[in-house]
Amino acid sequence: FLTGKRALITGSTSGIGLAIARALSGEGAQVVLNGFGDEDEIASLCDELGAEHVGADLTTAEGCEALMDAAGPVDILVNNAGMQHVAPVEEFPVERWDAIVALNLSAAFHTVRRAVPHMKAQGWGRIINTASAHSKTASPFKSAYNATKHGLDGFTKTVALELAQSGVTANCISPGYAWTPLVENQIPDTMKARGLTREQVINDVLLAKQPTKRFVQPEELGALAVFLCREEASNVTGANWSVDGGWTAE
Ligand code: NAD
Repeated sequence: FLTGKRALITGSTSGIGLAIARALSGEGAQVVLNGFGDEDEIASLCDELGAEHVGADLTTAEGCEALMDAAGPVDILVNNAGMQHVAPVEEFPVERWDAIVALNLSAAFHTVRRAVPHMKAQGWGRIINTASAHSKTASPFKSAYNATKHGLDGFTKTVALELAQSGVTANCISPGYAWTPLVENQIPDTMKARGLTREQVINDVLLAKQPTKRFVQPEELGALAVFLCREEASNVTGANWSVDGGWTAE
């Protein structure tokens, strides 16, 4: 049902973004991938999905501009690129704070402001922002991440209100812990920050948050993104969809 629609998914060479790209492509969308990684792997992803790839670094406004220039007008925009850093606030590296604010929050502003005119003009568009359970609740040692994800929720609601009568919706998808490289890579720092073993971090820190005791599968997030693109979801806007195994219900 997305044949003829062009979808840009940021941070889609890996993890959740890739799963969303696969799901939208599976419904016929023409997909533009973004993100870093091994050149051969990205080339084979492009073959698999019939997709283009634009490797812009979204930690700068210039990088976001370059991405939007290369992608052209898009009908579906998924702001998914994000990064994490785990450290006590008083030791939090300033350059990491700035980079996380730039990628997790400001990049969405830069892509949305460029994507909206086309969506408004045609009277149809879908903006989907990957936030996090940490857009609704906090845990220690993730000050930049939690601040930016809460900010992304507020930004998304604002955009939803501004576009409410234009046929364009804007929503957040908020996963709990999904098993992707982003989660795997924070295990060593969490071990250090909390003085725990790898198994303790997985069972007592990560899955301790999720009443279902299961990691979210990226494909489940792809399915939700597809739903948000349907006509039946045209009245769903400004919402922040938890897919967190019950985490934020507690
Ligand atoms: P990931 O590390 O597997 O993928 C991140 C993607 O972003 C990759 O494609 C990477 O190349 C790209 N990227 C990184 N820096 C970039 C930059 N400067 N410019 C452009 N692209 C860049 O991570 P993931 O777990 O799939 O996370 C995707 C999103 O989901 C993030 O916004 C993350 O905060 C959010 N999220 C993840 C989880 C989880 O448990 N994995 C939970 C909640 C929210």
